[in-house]
Amino acid sequence: MECQKIKVANPIVEMDGDEMTRVIWKSIKHKLIFPFVELDIKYFDLGLPNRDATDDQVTVESAQATLKYNVAIKCATITPDEARVKEFNLKRMWKSPNGTIRNILNGTVFREPIICKNIPKLVPGWTKPICIGRHAFGDQYRATDAVIQGPGKLKLVFVPEGHDEKTELEVFNFSGAGGVALSMYNTDEWVYAVYGCSEELHHYQLLKSMKINGNPSLRLPGYWYEHRLIDDMVAYALKSEGGYVWACKNYDGDVQSDFLAQGFGSLGLMTSVLVCPDGKTIEAEAAHGTVTRHYRVHQKGGETSTNSIASIFAWSQGLAHRAKLDGNTRLLDFTEKLEAACIGTVESGKMTKDLALLIHGSKVARAQYLNTEEFIDAVAKELRARLSTKAKL
Ligand code: NAP
Ligand code: MG
Repeated sequence: MECQKIKVANPIVEMDGDEMTRVIWKSIKHKLIFPFVELDIKYFDLGLPNRDATDDQVTVESAQATLKYNVAIKCATITPDEARVKEFNLKRMWKSPNGTIRNILNGTVFREPIICKNIPKLVPGWTKPICIGRHAFGDQYRATDAVIQGPGKLKLVFVPEGHDEKTELEVFNFSGAGGVALSMYNTDEWVYAVYGCSEELHHYQLLKSMKINGNPSLRLPGYWYEHRLIDDMVAYALKSEGGYVWACKNYDGDVQSDFLAQGFGSLGLMTSVLVCPDGKTIEAEAAHGTVTRHYRVHQKGGETSTNSIASIFAWSQGLAHRAKLDGNTRLLDFTEKLEAACIGTVESGKMTKDLALLIHGSKVARAQYLNTEEFIDAVAKELRARLSTKAKL
């Protein structure tokens, strides 16, 4: 007998997406979420055809709804390039939805790996997650650059608003053939936002892990900040066991999160959460893209084995945040069981090909992995078992 569905008091924003992840997304909702949770969903279709049909207004509206309801759960989306403009016959080369959403939410991106004991890691010492926090503004991404065509002085000039006197700093005196120059900036607001959001996220994770360990009443242990230069931090990260939030500058965060994703094993195990400085509004998604290569196979009717774990975690993390904001303990318990069901399924030896490859190497046999739907079905079975154990207690 199905137990009563969990009621959720406030809405969540759902952002649908493209290609293979759109296929997976639908199964996740119908097999892992809707049978158990009664949700008021504000649905936005961010699939590329609908972004084009709405002149990308749907992306803007989804971000505005996120500010209103505080929780968004996002499927991966195509960022169009020339080839996509042709493929989808687009009106324009629409901007990256993630960029548009980030600019409206003013958020900081945190990426965190999901750890399964039986999945070998390139860095075996990483037994706890390392979570990268990155303020996605400024630095190299908004730099102004110039090619210096000959000898002369390069200066940095600041003109304060409402004053006449300006500050001029001499950067370099070029001689001979010249060279290149780059000027970049960030704002205090963004720099401090990373620390504020790290604190919020770290606090939340400590609470969550203590609850999982069965001791929710423990006082929160103190957490601390330590400032390290990036080279020192990279060296430390490699020899550490993990278990911390690493707040990075924009570019460092971009580079280091790919380094971590590979070190921990698979893109299919990396989640991404955009946290706003208010600590109240988040958008959860998988760190990977729409897995186009698998989608091409799927379109031709072929069998795929795409890892859905990071997309499932987008749902569990988004719903866990809803639970926290609403004080909904049943919902929080459900999200913990959903995550445990994913990890438990993999640890019982049932997994998709990307993970089987890490265990068995390139000679992996078909019997050693599940296809896309078989894996989601296995998680659903495990989830039902975990939910009914609780009901019997
Ligand atoms: P991708 O979708 O992340 O996939 C790259 C490769 O990584 C795949 O071909 C696959 O390798 C492996 N992979 C990624 N996720 C996997 C999963 N869940 N399970 C199994 N294998 C997985 O990156 P992409 O092919 O460069 O980009 C495809 C589209 O996604 C692009 O249009 C891009 O704009 C978009 N994108 C969106 C986001 C986002 O919405 N946040 C992020 C990145 C990219 P194998 O083929 O070797 O199996
Ligand atoms: Mg990158």
